[in-house]
Amino acid sequence: MMKKWEENIRRVVPYTPGEQPNESGMIKLNTNENPYPPSPDVRRALEEMEEESFRLYPDPSASVLVDALAEYYHRPREQFFTGVGSDDVLAMAFQTFFNSDKPILFPDITYSFYPVWAELFGIPYEQPALDEEFRIVKKDYERENGGIIFPNPNAPTGLYMKLAEVEEIVRKNQDVIVIVDEAYVDFAGPSAMELVDRYENLLVVQTFSKSRSMAGMRIGFAVGNPVLIKYLNDVKYSFNSYTMSQAALSLGAAAMKDQAYFQKNIRKLVATRERTKKELKALGFRFPDSGANFIFASHESCSARELFEALRERKIYVRYFDAPRLRDYLRITIGTDEEMDALLAFLQEYIRKERIRKL
Ligand SMILES: *Cc1c(COP(=O)(O)O)cnc(C)c1O
Repeated sequence: MMKKWEENIRRVVPYTPGEQPNESGMIKLNTNENPYPPSPDVRRALEEMEEESFRLYPDPSASVLVDALAEYYHRPREQFFTGVGSDDVLAMAFQTFFNSDKPILFPDITYSFYPVWAELFGIPYEQPALDEEFRIVKKDYERENGGIIFPNPNAPTGLYMKLAEVEEIVRKNQDVIVIVDEAYVDFAGPSAMELVDRYENLLVVQTFSKSRSMAGMRIGFAVGNPVLIKYLNDVKYSFNSYTMSQAALSLGAAAMKDQAYFQKNIRKLVATRERTKKELKALGFRFPDSGANFIFASHESCSARELFEALRERKIYVRYFDAPRLRDYLRITIGTDEEMDALLAFLQEYIRKERIRKL
């Protein structure tokens, strides 16, 4: 029986993050981390951190990081907001901007944190279905709504929507806030950031967790017109002024400044992704053409669940979602070339044995 005191407890179904195993010899391709370290300048900045950075509260306005972002993107600093990973930035944005009685809209297949935040904050929502090829159907976002959010590239499909199409959604929804979650955009194409000067209702969110190899530091940011940024800061300061550690601020700024290293890192990863696509195709996999650092792949004859289990036995971790429309797929993060070779060799052998078994 429910205790009296339980009646007034807020109960939520939490988001399930990918597991974080730590075994020797494992190949971790399950949570879209970058296989390469961040710029050596990040370690240098860590070594140079002063005692004051530990003893004193961090700068609540995150100015070293905001300055580095403003310089890198050639934009005014008033257009930037930073937080503890983009999850923190997105959660604040939900609270700040999605405050209507009308439902917010996001795709049925997308980042599974969105419905969790909507439930937590009591925001009504609807989830228009992606089409057969996992594309966002633009006209589904032309009805009355309380706001819109979608990732570009989308997760877990990896599909990147052209900027002109993103702009069309933003343009047709100028009475609400449209959030574009660009966790993977650095691997794909141009960012919607360039649209924020023209559309006051657009907020673009990015993260250091994927392309910038710093998931452990928890750094995310938003770009939007200064009025949106002010509203976000008002909510943040009403909640916790010191969300980001001084370490995250300093190391994030150091990472931002080494552009050459970052671009080399991205090029290497994209080359590995394109090669992996070719090899997976040759093995009988099909997948949406990913612009992200993962491939969402389904095999013509092998069960995704059985493959997932077999890979796990071999300590190769990928992500499997046991949900309608997703259960025939594996989401495979792009690792180093050596990691992908090990994965591909295992898959080739597995598929060969399956063929013999089915004869
Ligand atoms: C990884 C991811 C995030 C969150 O990343 P943080 O580590 O919190 O910055 C947000 N959105 C999407 C679509 C993601 O895949």
